[in-house]
Amino acid sequence: MIVQRLWADDKYDDKFYDDFIARIKKNSGSCDEVWMCTLGAMPELSTHAAYAEKLKGYAEKLRAAGITVSLQVARTIGHGAKGDAANYAGEPAGANFTVDLSGQEENGFYCARNEGFREYFAEVCRIYCEKLHPSSVYFDDDLRLRSWAGKLRCACPACLKAFNEKFGAEYTAETLGKAVEENAEIREKFLDFTYDNIAEFAERISRACVEGYKDVIVGLQHGSYSGELYQKVFAAMKKSGAKAFGSRCGAGAYTDDEPFRIVEKVNDLECQFSRLPDFVTHRCPEIEGYPHLYYDKSAHGFLMESVLNLAQGFNFLSFAAFCANYETELFDDFNEKFAENRAYLDKLAAANVGTRRIGVCNFIPKNYYLTDYDYPNGALTPSMYMCPSFYYGLPVTYERKGNNAYYLPAELVSALTEEEIDMLLKSPVVLSGQAVMELEKRGLKDKIGVGAKPIKGGYYEENIPDYGSCNCTYYCGECTALSGGVKALSYYAPHSEMNMVKEPFKGGEIAACIAKTVYGAQWLAIGYAPERRMPSLAKARMVLDAVAEISDAMPVKICGCNRLLQYPRGNERGVTAVTLLNASMERTKSFEVKIENPAGGSFEWLAMDQKPVVPEVSRNGNFVSVKLPELAGWSAGTLFIK
Ligand SMILES: [Zn+2]
Repeated sequence: MIVQRLWADDKYDDKFYDDFIARIKKNSGSCDEVWMCTLGAMPELSTHAAYAEKLKGYAEKLRAAGITVSLQVARTIGHGAKGDAANYAGEPAGANFTVDLSGQEENGFYCARNEGFREYFAEVCRIYCEKLHPSSVYFDDDLRLRSWAGKLRCACPACLKAFNEKFGAEYTAETLGKAVEENAEIREKFLDFTYDNIAEFAERISRACVEGYKDVIVGLQHGSYSGELYQKVFAAMKKSGAKAFGSRCGAGAYTDDEPFRIVEKVNDLECQFSRLPDFVTHRCPEIEGYPHLYYDKSAHGFLMESVLNLAQGFNFLSFAAFCANYETELFDDFNEKFAENRAYLDKLAAANVGTRRIGVCNFIPKNYYLTDYDYPNGALTPSMYMCPSFYYGLPVTYERKGNNAYYLPAELVSALTEEEIDMLLKSPVVLSGQAVMELEKRGLKDKIGVGAKPIKGGYYEENIPDYGSCNCTYYCGECTALSGGVKALSYYAPHSEMNMVKEPFKGGEIAACIAKTVYGAQWLAIGYAPERRMPSLAKARMVLDAVAEISDAMPVKICGCNRLLQYPRGNERGVTAVTLLNASMERTKSFEVKIENPAGGSFEWLAMDQKPVVPEVSRNGNFVSVKLPELAGWSAGTLFIK
């Protein structure tokens, strides 16, 4: 389950491996698998062969210690400009760089359509697989439409010719760029065409891996750019006949400096996870510190990220922790921590089998990549659209199976199909006033049961009558005043701190309400700036109660005054597990959670660095109240139910 990725580096010599293995042996369960790495750049194939031979010796050491050996292909299309220092002696004749849609050649990024380039990497994969017999091979994350400095690609002469022939057109890179920007139909054709190119290359190198070693698992490292079209790449890899297929979802390296960025990355990864085809059975998150550093991210930080990822559904963990070449004295921290918490991690992975995430589903229309928000800078990133405000206790997920309450982002309303609109009108939906205005533009004013008008700028306060006199002030770049609705939940106050209310605003308008659609589904509309992530306790409670009122997306209620985030899972029998993250620096007091319809009568609480606890439980009809122990700051625990 625990994988350490090592780069291709001369620092990883016999002495390194002996030390590395000794530290793992001292902390049993802290590492099960190592991903070795092919050489980067484009050395001659004989250089690759010699390096693979060298790795073979280390692979034998690892296997003798009971550690599985796998491989990552260091690069394919490219990571950056072609540097003078790197070895490109094996660059195939005729290989060409990609050209972006402004006609600029991308130095160092190779076009995957080129036959010489395809054969070079097929041979690289064959060589290492023949020598190492790796359990799995993962292709690094440059195999995509955009990467690093690279822009949307490719419009090199060969790609342009193929595109023009396929569609009977006569585009240049520049005219195609303009057409892709202005015309959604051409954009879709171009994306589809380009993914086909990448998919063909992925199939070729996957087949080469299988030719080198027939029992290999083939996997793809990818990032948040992976939307529905990325499934083409997995489908192509499947044709290789590899033993099984894997995904390593990634989205950057975040450290102890910014724990919340780790939470956001975890959400992003769940978005990618939720889009993987079912045949991709090996699913791991990328968990990284900064390259060549260990010191920036504590073992605790690595563990917290691991727990959250497993709670989202992943079944193993892939670290770039020991790519830290120069800080081996810190490796023991990691190994000790993971050995101590191994039973908890195993239990989290086991609890994912046959269960799914429960919560409010971030709704991504199938045509999301045709919106102007996504082009040209959005990088086809569905995870940029997520329920933004209510991290404090509201379970949000990209999982579509089984969830029927949705968050609808305003930016994506223009991309909704008629069928999607109809489905949403029949479902509980959480949305902002901005989204209401976008729906009005699409002529749906009479169907959604709520209206919205913009308020310009200023700082506003909100009165939330049912939740005490706790008002909160916030800057409202995108505030709207709501109208209609069935039940008003809060109102704009006529004043604000420092009198920064702008004329002609007088206050009194509805700030949040529950509305009823033409089909009778209940929607929660929130008129104020949805990007605000820090609600007051009153506001958080108002939103949580309202979501519970309109939907069944909240079977777990967290009681008390704390800043806990929740990641519930369940199956047809009910709630099977809920992971809770204390998203604050302060240790919580002992707290209570109320669970509607638990999947069984046996409860166990496991938390980071804690001994298992059988909690105190009391029943009331369909609800079970569970008393849980204190939870340290930026620390997670899970209630397992069976
Ligand atoms: Zn090309």
